[in-house]
Amino acid sequence: MKGHSGNVGVFVRIRPTAHFAQGLVECLPDGQTVNIYHRRDSKKTQDSIKGPPSSWSFRLEGVLQDVSQEEVYDRVCHPVVQGAFDGYNGTVMCFGQTGAGKTYTMTGSTKSYKQRGFIPRALQQVFQEIERRTDFSFSVQLSFMEIYNETLLDLLSPVSPQQDSAPPSPRGLVVMEEPGRGVVIKGLSLHPVFSEEDALHLMFEADMNRITGSHALNRNSSRSHCIFSLHIESRSRTLSEAKYVTSKLSLVDLAGSERLGKTGSEGQMLKESTYINKSLSFLEQTILALADRRREHVPFRQTKLTHALKNSLGGNCNTVLVANVYGEAEHLDETLCTMHFARRMKKVKIQPAVNEHLDPALQVKKLQKELVTLKEEMSIHNTLLKNQSVEHEPLSEAQLAEISTEVQCYLDGSLMEISVKSIRQVEAVFTQFKLAVQKQEQKDVICNSCSSMKKDHGAVTWDVKESDGRGGTEEAEAGGSVATDSHKQTRRANTTATKTKKSKDKHSTTQGEGSASSKKRCETSSRKQNYSQTSEKELDPQEPEAQNQEAQPVEPAQPESPPTKSECFEDFKVGPGSKISSILKENKAVLLERRSLVRQLTEELNAVKGEIDTVMSTLLQHKQMRAARDEYPAEAEEPDAALLLQLSELKTLYRQRHVALHDVKAEVNYCEHLVHQCRVRLVSEFETWYKTAFLSPEEKTLTLIQSDDTEQQPQAEFPPDAPSAQFFHNARCRTQKRRDVQAHSGYRKLLPTLHAT
Ligand code: ADP
Ligand code: MG
Repeated sequence: MKGHSGNVGVFVRIRPTAHFAQGLVECLPDGQTVNIYHRRDSKKTQDSIKGPPSSWSFRLEGVLQDVSQEEVYDRVCHPVVQGAFDGYNGTVMCFGQTGAGKTYTMTGSTKSYKQRGFIPRALQQVFQEIERRTDFSFSVQLSFMEIYNETLLDLLSPVSPQQDSAPPSPRGLVVMEEPGRGVVIKGLSLHPVFSEEDALHLMFEADMNRITGSHALNRNSSRSHCIFSLHIESRSRTLSEAKYVTSKLSLVDLAGSERLGKTGSEGQMLKESTYINKSLSFLEQTILALADRRREHVPFRQTKLTHALKNSLGGNCNTVLVANVYGEAEHLDETLCTMHFARRMKKVKIQPAVNEHLDPALQVKKLQKELVTLKEEMSIHNTLLKNQSVEHEPLSEAQLAEISTEVQCYLDGSLMEISVKSIRQVEAVFTQFKLAVQKQEQKDVICNSCSSMKKDHGAVTWDVKESDGRGGTEEAEAGGSVATDSHKQTRRANTTATKTKKSKDKHSTTQGEGSASSKKRCETSSRKQNYSQTSEKELDPQEPEAQNQEAQPVEPAQPESPPTKSECFEDFKVGPGSKISSILKENKAVLLERRSLVRQLTEELNAVKGEIDTVMSTLLQHKQMRAARDEYPAEAEEPDAALLLQLSELKTLYRQRHVALHDVKAEVNYCEHLVHQCRVRLVSEFETWYKTAFLSPEEKTLTLIQSDDTEQQPQAEFPPDAPSAQFFHNARCRTQKRRDVQAHSGYRKLLPTLHAT
């Protein structure tokens, strides 16, 4: 769903029942029409005497009967979430009588991955999309708010030991309108989230905080409106643009729309129902006003619900409504009310627009850079036009030394640009480049002869496969330009690692058949380490062998002690962690490819520079010749004009190559970031797996707390290829565990700090 103007999208979802009101509710095969035949009871006559039958026909965007959670999500919510990535706000609301399936649609079952609803599925889509859109950097924040009896409550208000003394007042939340931002909820906590699992954990936390009351129709029915919001901000990684887009995604689970009399509510429940009915009836009034183009005033401010939803109902927003109905005969009145509401909602016009912003700081930076470039252009231009303001004195020793240092810094990457000051300086810069190239060529010759000597002696060969992906680049860099100290160190480590690996492989082949990892395990088990002494660092998949080979004290095998982490890590990589491990490998491959592109572009850039150098020196020669003759013959101007044209073309080419190089470098940075993320994820997943497999007594106690939970949701339900299923399960366990710990200690702890994965 992009930004097409049109009407609110309305779907009806029918809760499955064994007593479906056949003959009274009819869904037509077009999948869009519901007919309702209703015989209203006449209160004045006896029960058996009914009024004349009436029929209504409702045509909507879709009728969802006996449709899975997945399909409902794909048809209703998926396009709205997709639109949010392009900068469009989106709102999905569930409306209907209590027990009709609003919460089932919005949140779904928290105990079953398959039956999860819009919110967890939207989180999955958001994080998958973020992984897919590598050209953009995203920030995601979420909030979860409840409106209960006209009071706004933050379902995720941060409660920490420090904050316990002065917890934020739930009544402190206020709906406000800010110029340029529309409606905002002052005081509502916004939680940055970096992974699907962390976001799901917050969702479960909030879900547990919802106020639920026992009810005649549905014991767990929620008596409040809930608004889950995701704030997404995206910025281009490749274009150094000051522009960025934001969007807000609101998923709204409205409280039940049933009539008071039917539920038999009294006391507190009656008060709740009164508030609910009031806010829903104002919601209807608002919708009516919005649908009526002649109405100038829309009464958004009448209730907290309509005020909070102002931007979502009548703003620049993709809005979709799911009308949940309970298709049994006894609920026909409510079904009819819900369908009438749906029909009115369908008439509301929407005009979605992209939320585009300009980052003033970036804009200033960009303009400053442009200014510097223009000044340089001006300077060259002045020089070529023999402008007298430019320095003509030969450069001093000190100036030449300074230029030499600048060029060195430029070559090793610590200086991004060399600014052009005068033609003499340009000459000196090129001379320095020439010198650097010559030096490098000499080094290459020495390196080549060294490596052929090493080969002859059967010495070390580089093994790039097992390194962290830098090996290929560094190998090339060894014969290329400048290798930084850290690169050199990494290379040294890789060499050692390879040496060790080779000796290990040689050793393990004598021990019989087996996988590469089990071979390594056999080898390592001969010098088993104590489990508790195994350090985190050892697990860095970047250089597992390098770390294993560090001279650890050789201890006799201890059959009772658990296997060391490094042994298990290899098994984990080909077993339960194979997916993330292979993603890591793929990312490394992309990184290598991008790095080689950087090298290629750098070479091309240098070649263009060389040509500019040549043209510049020719121009200079001509100038000197003219100065010597002290005359300007007409024929001498001719070749200079051609040269100047060539110079300007070369400069354009140079700039293009420079931009391309800059972009690919940005990609390299991002790939490095991804590789790092994968590595961290691999290690953290391994840690969890290892702890579960080899439990210490304390850990066992904690797992016992979770055991009920695990029984309710057998692992078998997870499709093996869905990491999301694991996130869902992990997040639920985390929430459950936290709750259990709280229950035991009688003390509410801080929501765990979220870490980027
Ligand atoms: P509401 O939020 O509208 O009050 P719920 O979503 O809590 O209603 O649904 C009430 C009950 O009906 C829940 O137990 C839920 O699991 C079940 N239910 C609702 N819709 C469906 C559906 N489409 N498929 C299966 N079960 C459903
Ligand atoms: Mg509900």
